[in-house]
Amino acid sequence: MQFEFATATRIIFGEGAIRQVAPAAITWGHRVLVVTGHALEPANRLREDLQARGAQSFTIAVEGEPTVDLIARGLEQARGEQCNVVIAIGGGSVIDAGKAIAALLTNSGDLMDYLEVVGKGNALQNPAAPFIAAPTTAGTGAEVTRNAVLGVPERQVKVSLRSPWLLPRLAVVDPELTFGLPPAITARTGLDALTQLIEAYVSIRSNPMTDGFCAQGIPLAARSLRRAFYEGDDPEARRDMSLAALFSGLALANAGLGVVHGFAAPLGGRFPAPHGAICAAILPYGMEMNLRALRARAPQSAALRRYREVARMLTGRGDATAEDGITWTREICQELEIPPLKTYGMREEDVPALVAEAAKASSMKGNPLVLTPEELEEVLLRSLEGS
Ligand SMILES: [Zn+2]
Repeated sequence: MQFEFATATRIIFGEGAIRQVAPAAITWGHRVLVVTGHALEPANRLREDLQARGAQSFTIAVEGEPTVDLIARGLEQARGEQCNVVIAIGGGSVIDAGKAIAALLTNSGDLMDYLEVVGKGNALQNPAAPFIAAPTTAGTGAEVTRNAVLGVPERQVKVSLRSPWLLPRLAVVDPELTFGLPPAITARTGLDALTQLIEAYVSIRSNPMTDGFCAQGIPLAARSLRRAFYEGDDPEARRDMSLAALFSGLALANAGLGVVHGFAAPLGGRFPAPHGAICAAILPYGMEMNLRALRARAPQSAALRRYREVARMLTGRGDATAEDGITWTREICQELEIPPLKTYGMREEDVPALVAEAAKASSMKGNPLVLTPEELEEVLLRSLEGS
């Protein structure tokens, strides 16, 4: 057996860890670009911390999911102010924006030179500027992954900037920053983390190290997602979800994902739906189709046993079947009020084009088997209606 597990990110986890961001930042530089989103209070405290240590900070705010225009503006600001450190404090969108700005700060030219699909797809020539990620949601795990997802609105697509140099130099994961998250955001970000853990666990690229993160992370999310949704300031539930999200990022960066995330990029490019909401809406139907196709075409596949193990981790019952796992995910999506995809304006006539794009999406490559266009279509049609 041979496998690889890579990360270049130092990780600090725990309540109050956010206070370690400013001291770490000033070891790299004193002109800091702070990329923020809705978490205004911790961002303000961070700026005060930086100032108290003699550093100057400049701020760029990210509204919604980041676009190539936003990255261009952030880059102009960071170059103009001669920033030498970038800190992102926010959800996955904010962290992805920070990653892209930090990477371009030390590389000449503009974003389009390096973007896949819509740009030239060149490799980054130089390591990124020192970048610190401090997530304020428990979802994408973007604090430990090596890509940044960016929207190109005029082309209606989302594409990734990818490079090992996109890995943050430091990830500070402080569960206290997630206490104030509203239930709807807790639900969709938490279900994104859970989807990532399940997809990495059944991925054809999984290995014993990614298995370890998934086998730890799935039970944490299963026992604490409901509690974090109903009681947002329950410290134990929030800690479990922050850990689950962190583990999901480490797992997906090394094992890849599957059918649910294969759909997430093309859907997110065309419809104004948050990434986590898309994943949650598709998860039960993607699992069900994979299971049916594996039984029909690959009955010896190890993924069948893995789906059984997923069900045991989700339900906490040793006798659970793979179907019980699917039922569990369907029930939690209902209870946590995940809307079907039609809510975001998606219609039946959009399905064929989305299926064609999803079939070639890079996230699809880890799926335990190749699904046919008809199978993909059925997954999407069911997610559209939520039945
Ligand atoms: Zn995701």
